[in-house]
Amino acid sequence: MTTTGSAGSNHIVPDRVAVVGAGMVGLATAWFLQEAGVEVTVLDREGVAAGASWGNAGWLTPGLATPLPEPAVLKYGVRAVLSPASPVYVPPTASPRLLKFLTRFARNSTAGRWKTAMDALVPINRQALPAFDFLTKAGVEAQTYEAKSFLAAYRTVEERKVLLEEIEQIHAAGQGIEFEAISGDDARAIEPSLSDEIGAAIRLHGQRFINPGEYVQLLADSVIARGGQIISGVVVKDIVDEIRGVRLVTGDGETDPFDAVVMATGAWLGDLARQFGVKTVVQAGRGYSFSVPMAHVPAGPVYFPAQRIACTPLGDRLRVAGMMEFRKPEAKLDPRRIDAIVEAARPLLRDADLDARTFEWVGPRPCTPDGLPIIGATASPRVFAAGGHGMWGITLGPITGQLLAETITTGRAPAELRPFNPLR
Ligand SMILES: Cc1cc2nc3c(=O)[nH]c(=O)nc-3n(C[C@H](O)[C@H](O)[C@H](O)COP(=O)(O)OP(=O)(O)OC[C@H]3O[C@@H](n4cnc5c(N)ncnc54)[C@H](O)[C@@H]3O)c2cc1C
Repeated sequence: MTTTGSAGSNHIVPDRVAVVGAGMVGLATAWFLQEAGVEVTVLDREGVAAGASWGNAGWLTPGLATPLPEPAVLKYGVRAVLSPASPVYVPPTASPRLLKFLTRFARNSTAGRWKTAMDALVPINRQALPAFDFLTKAGVEAQTYEAKSFLAAYRTVEERKVLLEEIEQIHAAGQGIEFEAISGDDARAIEPSLSDEIGAAIRLHGQRFINPGEYVQLLADSVIARGGQIISGVVVKDIVDEIRGVRLVTGDGETDPFDAVVMATGAWLGDLARQFGVKTVVQAGRGYSFSVPMAHVPAGPVYFPAQRIACTPLGDRLRVAGMMEFRKPEAKLDPRRIDAIVEAARPLLRDADLDARTFEWVGPRPCTPDGLPIIGATASPRVFAAGGHGMWGITLGPITGQLLAETITTGRAPAELRPFNPLR
């Protein structure tokens, strides 16, 4: 460990840091720590991208990265829970923890709280794409793709109003997002894979996408190439903070002490973080995806907001993703949710072979009741939390890693991270 800073503000720069969780957030943090000369060890109960970071939609859309609790979602959620084919699922017998989450989530779903949370997100959203560019320039071989077209598509002009109003509020919060409202025919001219049922659309500009599983694997490869260690198949059961350093208790015994530890365990964050004063509930909002062949694979992402379905071109297939299922993160894949996505998507896409599905997948979005991530030091100055990004952990993963690595190595949290204080 090295000491920096003037007398009275001495900060011990860690030499060796363990990161628990090899998802986008954990690996980005490990990578940026290495950039500052720190030796990293990443541990994961399964392996790289074993949680939410694999089968997600891979949109890099800071323009749309807004807090999940918002007045429209609340209205929509209540309506949706009453319908069996709904894209939001809450189990009929919710656990006390889930009830706590939902109650707090509902309390945060007001226009005023949305605005406060949005004000907190705007500064990191602005830096989200530059953080990806930083990784690319530094030699990470993973690619980001400019979305040649990015269409939100609707059956009716009426349905489109919700997103148009939200875009107005996004603009009012100071986040630029360029768009045009277009007709169904114009949308089909851009994207022939949209069916005749599409009667209105919004075209978004300046957004990107990735193949998330591939991206995160290449980020992991870069961490290893730079001398880091990634250990798979190790469950971290406890974190012990003592004078000599921070030790991890794993299924295989205890590790040597590290100078600092980062908990980046996605929807499981609460399990380890609670003992370090992190009270915010992290609830799994599970999403499903699969990929299908198409006669014409869209040139960019396609979004069906009314059905909450997100589609992303991945090579010669289309990934179709959706659902928000509030259950335990490790619960089994429920095929009924896949069926619900298929039946909702079928009338909206032309020439997609929705019955030739591969890679059926479920993964847990780490959702917080206030819609904000948890990033920074905990009650221990050597134990850090990074997660809880909900719908936007891919978009915000690299900037989270960059700003958290700065916090860990300088002892000062950048202003952008203040609203995400793990002890809030
Ligand atoms: C259907 C769907 C679509 C999505 N689309 C997008 C999108 O388009 N754009 C976007 O920005 N975001 C999207 N998201 C959200 C995004 O996937 C998540 O926010 C992000 O992947 C979270 O990353 P993470 O690293 O925090 O968590 P994870 O990727 O879940 O990683 C956590 C890791 O921790 C490990 N772990 C947990 N507990 C332990 C333990 N005790 N010991 C050891 N290891 C442990 C797990 O195995 C896992 O690998 C989507 C999510 C879903 C489900």
